[in-house]
Amino acid sequence: AAILANAVTGVAVLVLGQLYENLSRLGADEVQVLAELDWTKFDPAAELAALEKAIAQYQPRHIFMPDNALGDGDLGRRLAAKTQKNVATHVIELSREYIATYEQGGALIASTSLPAIILLAQNVVDTQLPFVGKAVLKPAPEFSQQTLALARSLASHAYKDLGLNAVEAGQTALEEADCVVAAGNGVANISSIAKLATLLNAAIGASRVAVDDGKFNRQQQVGATGKTVTASTYFAIGISGAVQHLQGIKECRHVIAINKDASAPIVKRANLSLIGDAEDIMQSLILAIEQAKNGQRILHNEA
Ligand code: FAD
Repeated sequence: AAILANAVTGVAVLVLGQLYENLSRLGADEVQVLAELDWTKFDPAAELAALEKAIAQYQPRHIFMPDNALGDGDLGRRLAAKTQKNVATHVIELSREYIATYEQGGALIASTSLPAIILLAQNVVDTQLPFVGKAVLKPAPEFSQQTLALARSLASHAYKDLGLNAVEAGQTALEEADCVVAAGNGVANISSIAKLATLLNAAIGASRVAVDDGKFNRQQQVGATGKTVTASTYFAIGISGAVQHLQGIKECRHVIAINKDASAPIVKRANLSLIGDAEDIMQSLILAIEQAKNGQRILHNEA
């Protein structure tokens, strides 16, 4: 939205639930917080009612929502159906003129002019904007408990919220994990991988060689003949980056390579490479994360 805003338009954000972030960094000009809503609950009737009020107030040219499985994707589709506005789903690219989305399982990219409702695919938004918004907090008086209760009661027969089940990241399916720590032939100490993954709340992946060696199970193999992962952060530790492995990580947003060889193919694919011994770097990372989690200053080892 901040990319599309111009001198006469702006970015208004409606937060359905508690607000924890500084939204000026994300380009927001006005912010309304509906703290009584709870994102862990499936509550589309109340959320839709709130959205419609905000739309009536702001008359937005475009409405952006995340296209995720946590309820936002569902809410975006409900909004499109209710308001009869045109909608684009799983949007991966955006400019002032058009949006684009994958077709045929990623084989094609389709683009069209900007629709009213834009549902953004996961991990496509770069939050590092070159500008800030004013992020003025606006009261949200119209969203009274009464409005929400009424909306809920009208929809109470239509669905039942069975709640969310929290799953340890290590138990998350590789394909769904947001962070993956993957090990290759250059990793000797599997327990360091496990420790790092636990600290990062990450799922564990592996190269085929590491799987063939019996260090990991076949379900953890990433690549052409293994799983395709879409993590926002993928640690490739002691993995050379053979083309078959790269095939499995092409949709990962940030690849961090740890390798002793600066000319390994993974380094070309990586957004950040740490060149050195895998075990040494993992131990430093583990220490740094533990210190950060304990609120301590990270001590840099000059050596
Ligand atoms: P290596 O190629 O042995 O690389 C190890 C890396 O670790 C090197 O870059 C090295 O510099 C680094 N290293 C070594 N020691 C250290 C250290 N102490 N510290 C830091 N770095 C170190 N592979 C897959 O991963 N997934 C697949 O799905 C897959 N499918 C395949 C399908 C086919 C038909 C074929 C032919 C191959 C397939 N492969 C697949 C295998 C692939 O070609 C590679 O052989 C494999 O990915 C290599 O694994 P690796 O990078 O762990 O090991």
